Amino acid sequence: MKTLPRLKQEAQVVFNEFIRLRDSVGASHFKCISCGQVKAVKFMDAGHFYNVGYYDGLRYDEDNCHGQCSHCNRFLHGNLIEYQANLISKIGLQRFDRLKIKAGHYKRNGYKFTRFELNLLITIYKEKIVELKKQLDL
Ligand SMILES: [Zn+2]
Repeated sequence: MKTLPRLKQEAQVVFNEFIRLRDSVGASHFKCISCGQVKAVKFMDAGHFYNVGYYDGLRYDEDNCHGQCSHCNRFLHGNLIEYQANLISKIGLQRFDRLKIKAGHYKRNGYKFTRFELNLLITIYKEKIVELKKQLDL
């Protein structure tokens, strides 16, 4: 039986792959959610708006995670001011507000994933990856 940390890690790998495929422009490029620069996919990270260290419950939230260049993600610590502006343009104010409410809740209460939930996420994102690859003709 797989440990919870192991399942979380597996879910993160498939979720990140889903984000990379979802946010690719064609098969080779992407536009960074923060700086807006178009770069090669090898420079793309799956960048969280609400940091998973403080908001574990938003780790696999599609509205909280977007293709971001490694420069913004790693050296500018998420480049969050630009991230927020572009995130609102991308998902709309309503979804952004919902994300903010969830973040507040998880910050106050924490979040514990169950094995059932993690296994389900792994299955769902594996399926979504297959679908996206078909669409992208990969
Ligand atoms: Zn960037």
